[in-house]
This record gives sequence, structure tokens and C-alpha cells, in this order.
Amino acid sequence: MKLNPISPFCYEIPRTGDMRVPGRIFMSRRMAAGLSEEEALKQVANVATLPGILTAAMAMPDMHWGYGFPIGGVAAFDWKTGVISPGGVGYDINCGVRLAATGLEEKDIRPVAERLVTALFQNIPTGVGSTGSVKLSVKDELKVLKQGGAWAVRQGLGDAVDVERTEDGGCMAEADPSVVSQRALERGLKQLGTLGSGNHFLEVGVVDEIFDEDAARAFGLFENQITVLLHTGSRGLGYQVCDDSLAFMNKHVKTLGIRLPDRQLACAMIRSPEGERYFAAMACAANYAWANRQILLHRARETFQQVLGIGPRDLDMHQVYDICHNIAKRETHIVDGNPRDVCVHRKGATRAFAPGHAAVPAAYRHVGQPILIPGDMGTASYVLAGTQKAMEESFGSTCHGAGRVLSRKAAKKQSKGRAIHRELADKGILVKWSGRSTLAEEMPDAYKDIDQVVESVHGAGISKKVARLRPICVIKG
Ligand code: 5GP
Ligand code: MN
Ligand code: MN
Repeated sequence: MKLNPISPFCYEIPRTGDMRVPGRIFMSRRMAAGLSEEEALKQVANVATLPGILTAAMAMPDMHWGYGFPIGGVAAFDWKTGVISPGGVGYDINCGVRLAATGLEEKDIRPVAERLVTALFQNIPTGVGSTGSVKLSVKDELKVLKQGGAWAVRQGLGDAVDVERTEDGGCMAEADPSVVSQRALERGLKQLGTLGSGNHFLEVGVVDEIFDEDAARAFGLFENQITVLLHTGSRGLGYQVCDDSLAFMNKHVKTLGIRLPDRQLACAMIRSPEGERYFAAMACAANYAWANRQILLHRARETFQQVLGIGPRDLDMHQVYDICHNIAKRETHIVDGNPRDVCVHRKGATRAFAPGHAAVPAAYRHVGQPILIPGDMGTASYVLAGTQKAMEESFGSTCHGAGRVLSRKAAKKQSKGRAIHRELADKGILVKWSGRSTLAEEMPDAYKDIDQVVESVHGAGISKKVARLRPICVIKG
């Protein structure tokens, strides 16, 4: 695939064939030199052929192959003339990340780290089919789908301020539970408040380095502070919503008379019954995911208090922010100098709104939206802030993680004969996991270098480095 450098941190895939717009990849020269993502680049070019796409089909430095659209991809479509595609959101609808900071420092946790990680692993259900964190009736489940994070807070599973410091206030108003299938509802019934498998995690970390004092102060972060970072999504319910939607979109797309370069790009016009049905179901799954992360934060609070024998005031575990990185949103962006009503697909990409934007919580508005970027369980994760340049260049979006560099299978092969948990323990990181292959598939070598990914988006100016977090205790699915 031909990549033309157009600025020091941005490359273009020129328009050819059916492409309506070019492709655009944000990454450093160094990352571009080592890039081996032919398949994912082809996917960027494929996305550029879809009706109503604006400016460019974009990808972030953490890009890799995904279903139809690449992971690490951003694509914005005109609301009136564009399409919406389940493949542009992903199977784990509103997979996302939540960060809480505490009043504790590293020295408070080191002596109890083993007990803490054991208790977290006991109190938070992990693994593929994990269930049983909260008892939910069907009636309650419908409320979860409508209300999102606020539902959990109403049950006493969190604080009102948690919801205020969540993207979209933890609720997409477009949710309509009547379009969610029985099968999806069944799958969601027992899984609320569970972590799930593989790449999902809850991590106790420490603020290792601050890059931007002002923003760190606004986000309530200081050096040596203990943090909790968690990553999960909408579990079986979201997966089923995606699967159900692909089934009807695969049929529907044939009636649109467009030529798809890949059948995994099945889509519908946003303003069509099929497009609206997907959007309303997707919003339900998004709300479920926010309730899920809300409950997990509550479980983390309970567990810390139990293990340390302290009350909520001394623990002071307050939410910094919660972001989604698999979602489609209706937003207003300036395109060619004019405000446009657009549908932004972020798949393995994070919203990165600028200082002053009304969607940024008031306490953070002067520094920009907090962005949460997990790296891997053996290295680091980052907190960044949104920028004006992101609004201008990437529809207010940035990367979502380090991104996989090894497939699960390749990672398993490379880890043969190694004891990953011991390698981590030697670095002072305690890990508990449930899946038989989880540690091998998720070892640090399976992911790109998070420092380079973050340098790329910081260099491109689409986000600004605020703080680096280092892991201490990790529980994995
Ligand atoms: P996803 O799996 O949602 O595409 O990506 C989430 C990102 O989380 C990955 O790209 C990877 O960088 C990061 N990640 C996966 N597992 C862990 C973990 O155990 N700890 C941390 N800090 N990051 C992780
Ligand atoms: Mn994710
Ligand atoms: Mn996920």
C-alpha cells in the first residue's frame, strides 16, 4: 500500500478506484518505518469507499486488522447522506476504559498488594462466561439499557459524580430496548458487573510521571498516587446486538445498490429504518457497558476498603473519567469551514474533545477531555487530554491503546517455555487471571510499544500527554 507523508506525524493513502476520500494514518516516522499492517491499511482504503464519508478514512498508530473496519479506525459520515455500519463499531459495543484516582500512595499499597490482588480477583467475576455480580430482573435490565451508569448509581453502586465524569454522562438517549432481541437480553441478564475475558482487566497502578502539571491537577492526579484503571464492555449483550444487526444489514445492504469491497462492511443509511434500528440497539448496549463499568468501580471501592480496613473518606477513590472506544456517535464537527451533523464511528479509537467543548465536564473544560490509553499489563498506560487539533484533524478522536502486534495464536507460540506471571512478578507486578491462555495471549510482547503510540498522537497534536501510569496489581479475564 502506498503511503505518502503529508506532515511529520501523518500519512495519506491516496484516492484510487472507488475511494471517495483518501485514507489518513496518524503515526510517527519511526512507527511508519516498522509498520507491517498491510491488511489494516487495505481496510482503511475500503472504508473510504462508503457513501457519505467525510474528509478521510482515518486510522491511529495502534491500528490493526479488525472485522470490516480496522481497529484503531475513525470514520465520520454525513448524517443525511451517510451510512452506519456495525463493523465500524465492533462486536464489543462501548468497550471502554474507566480511571479512578485515590488518596493513597504506592507505599500504602505495597505491603498489602498480594492480599489486594487476591481480594479483587475474588470479588470481581472474570472469564468468558462470568456471571453473578448483581441480580437483575428482566424489568431492571430494560432500565439498565435505557439509563446506563445512572441506573447503577440509583442502586447505590456508585456516586452521582461518577456519572458526571463519564463520556455522555454514561447514557446515550437514543437507546430503545424494544429493538434488542430476546437472545441479547438473555445473555445480558446474568453478566452485569463482570469483567469478561482476555484483554479486559482491572489494574491497580501508580502515577509514575506527570507531563502536564495543570491538566494533572485538574484531573486530580499527582506523582506516586494509586490509581485503578479498568477495561471492559457490554459483554454477551453487546456481542449479540452486533451479531443480530449484521444479520439484517447483510440482507439490507444488497438493496442499496452500492458496491462493497468487503462484505464485512455491511451498512445502512443512517436515516433509514435499518440504520435507526442498529443505532437504537447499539445505544442500549453502550448503556449496559456504562452500568457494567460503574458496578466494577463500586466493587473495587468495596474491596480496597475491606483489605485496607479504611472508610470511603480515607480511600477517596474518585472517578477521573470513563471513555468508550467502540462506538458510533452523532456529533457536530466543522467540515470545510461549516458545521456538519455527522456520525463518527470510533472503533478502537477514543474521543479527544478540546478545551472549551461543552461535552467536557466543567471541572476539566479548561484543559480538555481526559483520554485514557491502556498500554499493557507489564509496561504502562497513559492519561492524555483532548486538543483543538483533534477537532480539526481527526473528528475529535485519538488512539485507544497500544494495539496488538501479535495475533493471539502467535503470542501463544512465542510465550512457550516462559512463565509470564514470574516475568511480571520480577518487575513488581502481581497478576491473577482466569483464562487458560490469557497470560500468553496478553503478554506485553503481544502489544505495540505504548510509549511510541502515545508519542505519535502527542506529536501529531491530536492529544496531549498528561501522565504515565505503571501497573502494580492486575486481574485479567
Ligand atoms: P482492545 O482490546 O479494546 O482493542 O484494546 C485495549 C488496549 O488495552 C489494547 O490495545 C492494549 O494496549 C491494552 N491492554 C490490554 N490488556 C492490558 C492490560 O492488562 N493492562 C493494560 N494496562 N493495558 C492492556
Ligand atoms: Mn476495548
Ligand atoms: Mn472489549
